[in-house]
This record gives sequence, structure tokens and C-alpha cells, in this order.
Amino acid sequence: MTQTNFVPAVLDGARWENLEPLYQSLRDRELSCSGCLEQMLLDRSDLDAAASEAHTNLYVQMTCHTDDAQAKSSYLRFVEEVEPKLRQIGFELDRKVVASPHGVDLDRDRYEVLLRDLAADVAIFRPENIPLQTEDTTLDQQYDETCGAMTVDFDGEERTLPQMARFLEETDRSTRERAWRGITERRYRDHEKLSSIFDRMIELRTQIARNADFDNYRDYMFKHRHRFDYTPADCEAFHLGAEQVCVPLLRQLNRERGAALGVDPLRPWDLAVDAKGRPPLRPFEDTDELVEKTSLLFHRMDPSLGRMFDSLRNGDSLDLESRKGKAPGGYQAHRDRSLKPFIFMNAAGLHRDLDTMIHEAGHAFHSILCHHEPLLHYRHAPIEFAEVASMTMELFGFPFLDEFYDEAGAARATRKRLEDLATMLPWIATIDAFQHWLYTHPDHSRAERTAYWIELDERFGSAVSWEGLERFRAVTWQRQGHLFGVPFYYIEYGIAQLGALQMWLQYKKDPTEAIRNYTAALALGGSRPLPELFAAAKLDFSFGPETMTRLMDEVQRELESLPM
Ligand SMILES: [Zn+2]
Repeated sequence: MTQTNFVPAVLDGARWENLEPLYQSLRDRELSCSGCLEQMLLDRSDLDAAASEAHTNLYVQMTCHTDDAQAKSSYLRFVEEVEPKLRQIGFELDRKVVASPHGVDLDRDRYEVLLRDLAADVAIFRPENIPLQTEDTTLDQQYDETCGAMTVDFDGEERTLPQMARFLEETDRSTRERAWRGITERRYRDHEKLSSIFDRMIELRTQIARNADFDNYRDYMFKHRHRFDYTPADCEAFHLGAEQVCVPLLRQLNRERGAALGVDPLRPWDLAVDAKGRPPLRPFEDTDELVEKTSLLFHRMDPSLGRMFDSLRNGDSLDLESRKGKAPGGYQAHRDRSLKPFIFMNAAGLHRDLDTMIHEAGHAFHSILCHHEPLLHYRHAPIEFAEVASMTMELFGFPFLDEFYDEAGAARATRKRLEDLATMLPWIATIDAFQHWLYTHPDHSRAERTAYWIELDERFGSAVSWEGLERFRAVTWQRQGHLFGVPFYYIEYGIAQLGALQMWLQYKKDPTEAIRNYTAALALGGSRPLPELFAAAKLDFSFGPETMTRLMDEVQRELESLPM
């Protein structure tokens, strides 16, 4: 175990009265030598882990039961009462560490990332931002609650929106259209409410940035998210690459799809159905089957990955099936003290549920491979690399999809994942460019916001006709929960996807070597700067048009080798 004896073995970290004396004793501790500083960092790490685990457990309970008033109030109590205090004392401890004259005596390689991150956090911390951040989190909870309550009556049954997704894959065009309109009109009914939430978020976030002496929230967030190794200009290079390399491929695929379906123009409900009119892929009947076959897939990919996956199957690490009252989406959360991963998703029997399962398992592997690390800060990698861990598994999984499908189905699923890149990378550019604009133009009106959103959709979107659907198109951004809950967290997926594609090229050449590079880099957690994590996996850290061309050329070659 990595734990020190500072934190009692049993501690309910959801209660401030349990945490407070421990945090205070850390704050009052005399740091008279570098060894004392190091011990304080380790003890604090364990205490932070206890608080983090309490937060994770409350978040898990709430997202699994958005209709449970008790789960909601417990989570909100933590957010409103405990988190502000954690932020305040966390800042005092950060400042104490950053100000310590013994920091220079610590092992530089070992502590450079931690000290760099703490110094940035101290520099942007403002006590007057704490209530603003709390309100921001509360607003996101309202967003989740609003979306979690959305259901559609479809063919005589009340269905959640994740449950509705499968009807968008139906070969009967009128069924798809009805489903699409059902989902879209249901979302639209709350669009004013969601816009009001978002308006207030932009106000709050802009104020947070100004309080911390930044011109705008984008620049604040670059520092807050510890983006030391790339700039807004690098993000723009990514946007340009997506526009020049991926959008032409996307629109070519749209044309082929329209021709195969025999529809002109293509409409928004024509994008998810199989272009050949084959019935939707159905990889599993229930979540037991999903878990069993995913285990087989990982065992064939690599026995140690298979064993790690199996370790998730006992106990409370998985909540997979969709039901009413569950928050949308999927995530992997790590319980930082008991060192147990948790995977959340809304499985409804779709191929993309299988993708999500494999993806979130990649995150869980990352967590497990970092269990040896004593510092909590280093047990989590930066998102740009954390998503390499998960997306790589989706691509390494190609040869083993026969656990779920016959040969034609496996080829079809592989093809779909690669084709999706042509949609995904431009969508990432859309969301990222949108956020850059939103927060560098904080005084925009709703009409200007809509106009800019449409401009981005014209630049990066699919070639579909929105005729008669303009009002729906204007609010499609509202389904992207990241805009609400985790601002500026999105380009990371793009940076990581390009890393994962490079991993996949390695894997096609030499699977053993690729798995070795993958696990070696994951085991570093967040202990090294981002470019070094990429280097440890033998990946280039670059995401402009050149890298994108090299990778997407390979994707196109692979697509040509697969049957339609
Ligand atoms: Zn992920």
C-alpha cells in the first residue's frame, strides 16, 4: 500500500468535521527540512485521496439516481459545504509548499511537475472565486438534472434519450425521422432554460478570470488546466487540420452515404443508419453478455489487460445499463483511497455502447497501472494523455471484435470506428473553436452566439440539409455537456485521438512492442510533463495539419482495404 499512517484507516471524507482537524494539522506543521516537506506532501496526498473518494462516491450515487432526492442533497451538500472549504485549505497548503525554501532540495525529476502545477494553482487562486465556482458547479448539476429528466413517448413507451438512440439506426427512414424529431423536440422544449443556465455560467466564468487578473476565461483556463505545453495557436492549428484534412473526407463519406441510401439531400436523421440498409449492429443482449465478451476480447489482446478487466467484475465497479433517472453519458471515475475504478454508462445494446465499454476500460487500466504511485497528483495523467489510454483500446480492439460479430460485422464495426474519425475530429474542432470564441467575446448576445455556432457548423459539419429545422440546428451545442460541466475540456480528445492513431500504427507493425510502450507510458501516470508521456509511448506530440495528414492518409488506406 502507498498510504502513510497520517489518515485513519476508516474516515468518512464526506464530513468536513472529519477532514478539518487533519487538514489543520498539515497546515500548522513545521516544515524545517526537505524530508519534512516530502512527508507533508505524502500525508496530504492521502488526505486529499480520502476527500476525493467521498466526492466520487457521492457523484456516483447522484448520477446513478438523479431522481433520488437523498443522493442529490448529499452530493449538493458536499459541493456547497465541503468543497469550498477544501478549496480554501488546499490553497493554503499549496502556498505553503510553493513558499517553502526546501522545495529546491527535493528530487527535481520527481517533483518538478507537482511543484509546477501547484505554483500555477497558487498564482490563479482568489478566495472571492470560491462562491462563484460553487455556483458554477450547482448550475451544472441543474443541467444534468434537466437532461436526465428528458424522456420521449415513442411507440407507446416512455424512453430515455440514450434509449432512443437506437431508433436513429433503423433502416426505415420514417422511423428514424420520427425518432430524431422526438429527441430534438424534447431537447428544444428546454432550450431556453439551458441557455439561461449557460448565460449565467459565462458571466460567472468571466468574472472568475477577471478576479484572477486574466483578460478572459480562455487564458485563465489554459493556466487552470495546466496547459503548459501548447497554446491557443496550437489549437487553431488543430482546427485548420480538421478543416483541411478531415472535412473533405467527411463530406465525401456523406456523398457516398447519400448515394447508397438513395436520398438527396441527406437529412440529420440519415447519419446513424447503416448506408447499405443492413440492420443495426447488435453486439450484445444484456450487460452480462457485454462484460463477458469484453473480458474475452481483452484476454486475447493481452493477458495482463484481461486480468485487469476481470478485476472490475467483482463488487461495485460497474453500472452499465440505461434506466430512467440515470444521468446521460459514460465515465470512468477512480476512488482514490480504496483504489477502485468505477465505470458508468447507459448501455442500450448499441455498437457504440461496446465502444464505450472498451474506452472506459482503458481509463480503468490507466488507474490500475498507477496504483503503485504514492502521490495522488501523479496517479492521474493529464487528460490529453489519459484519453490516449482509452482511445487506444478502441483501436487495438479491432482484431478481436469477432467476439461480438461475424466477420462481416467485425469489418463493418472497424470501418465505422475509422469513418467516425472524419466526424469526430471536426466536431472536436467545432466545440473547441466555439469555446475560444465564447470566452473571448463574453459580452455576446444569444443571437451572435447562434450565428457563430452556425458558422462553425458550416465550416466543420456534415453536408446535410437543415431546411425547416433551423431552430433545432441553432441549439445543437446544448447536447454537448462538456460546455456546461467542464469548460475547455474538449481539444484534449483531439490531441489524444491523434496519439491513439499513432499507437494503432505501432500496433499494426508490432503488437507486442506497442502494448509494451502503451503500458510503460500509462504507468507514469501524471508524473512527467505531457510531451514526455507521449515520448514514453513513442508518440509525436504534435497536432497540426501535417500530423493529421499523415495519420488520416493511413486511415483512408485502411478504409479502402475494408469491405463497405
Ligand atoms: Zn475518456
